[in-house]
Amino acid sequence: MTFDDFNFNEQLLEGVLSMGYREPTPIQQEAIPLILEGKDLIACAQTGTGKTASYLLPVLNNISKTEKKHTHALVLAPTRELAQQIDQQVEGLGYFTGISSVAVYGGGDGIVYGQQQRAMKEGVDIIIATPGRLIAHLNSGTFKPDQLKCLILDEADRMLDMGFIDDIMRIISYLPKERQTLLFSATMPPKIRTLARSVLHNPAQISLAVSQPATGIDQQVYKVSDSQKIPLLSWLLQHKEYKSVLIFASTKEKVKALYKALKATKIQVQAFHSDLEQSEREEIMLAFRNRQLQVLIGTDVISRGIDVEGISLVVNFDAPSDPEDYIHRIGRTARAETTGTAITLVNERDQRKLQNIEALIGKPVPVIPFPPEVGEQAAFKPVRASAKKNRKKFPKRNPQQRRNHTGTGS
Ligand code: AMP
Repeated sequence: MTFDDFNFNEQLLEGVLSMGYREPTPIQQEAIPLILEGKDLIACAQTGTGKTASYLLPVLNNISKTEKKHTHALVLAPTRELAQQIDQQVEGLGYFTGISSVAVYGGGDGIVYGQQQRAMKEGVDIIIATPGRLIAHLNSGTFKPDQLKCLILDEADRMLDMGFIDDIMRIISYLPKERQTLLFSATMPPKIRTLARSVLHNPAQISLAVSQPATGIDQQVYKVSDSQKIPLLSWLLQHKEYKSVLIFASTKEKVKALYKALKATKIQVQAFHSDLEQSEREEIMLAFRNRQLQVLIGTDVISRGIDVEGISLVVNFDAPSDPEDYIHRIGRTARAETTGTAITLVNERDQRKLQNIEALIGKPVPVIPFPPEVGEQAAFKPVRASAKKNRKKFPKRNPQQRRNHTGTGS
């Protein structure tokens, strides 16, 4: 299948070409025809599958056929970083179409707010917004969605995890009932199904299996006590030559504590969290992208949004509770056929999480001997084997293998 098969207009095809996309990814092959047909859609797909273009391309194609006077599509996304990345993809893909877009998120100064207001008043074609900031524009009367044709909920699971459900429902209450609604989510817990039932109309469904970690990733586990985590990590960063390192901790508080500890060792490090000003976040991300910053620490929020090439090491300072988050996190390294290392620090309480991860990826992650310079490897009591149960819960799947059929009906 090629992009020519979708009958996109020429300007849009030119944009696709200029972005360097040669052929549609599996999610694009499935989603684009359904969205072009005007169907509502619920799609289970994670970052890295090409899911953003899978909804942007048909939406851009539809907009180019209409009179451009009012806002046509609204994308709701959990974080400003993701909103910005979606906006950049609109700019790239829609470059030759003349379609306009604006990213609407909190944290900027009055000038940014003013720019957002102006774009909305002028009837920008696509608004990409975080829910909280959009509510502010709804309250001030700047956002008038009466002619909106399409609503996209991107990373819906993350939006619900971040507590945006009330904001989302409030925004939807302002939208025309006659519209197309597309819901994208990396996972499909029951609360997403409930949301889908209340806001989608007879949706088609697509589900792509979680892709397996790239083969270029050298996955490693260190068994540690909590007090060994920081000394081990400092030692690894000082004794191995990792040029670009992304560290995931479970909470904002842990991110800050780890930042303090590593900074004291003179490692070139920054912490990325929601307490920072927008300009600080952008500065940090730019420095990380440009290799001026070696180590970046954050929570799972950055594993979804971040699109940085060439990360050499990903560290799970805390083992993720959801095994699918493990794949998202370590997927930040070894992108585009390169190689990389993923280290997970596992304490005694996290052994079950490691079992679940291993069941999902279908193989054990090698335990690396503890460096004697740092101390002795922590001795754990073995957890009762539940591998059988887990294997049932997380059956081994082939990369990109489809779990469900595409089809209509909810
Ligand atoms: P996403 O899953 O939307 O976060 O996309 C992940 C990355 O894949 C982005 O950098 C996209 O620009 C890129 N991408 C999307 N579709 C294609 C395609 N058909 N061919 C090559 N790259 C793509």
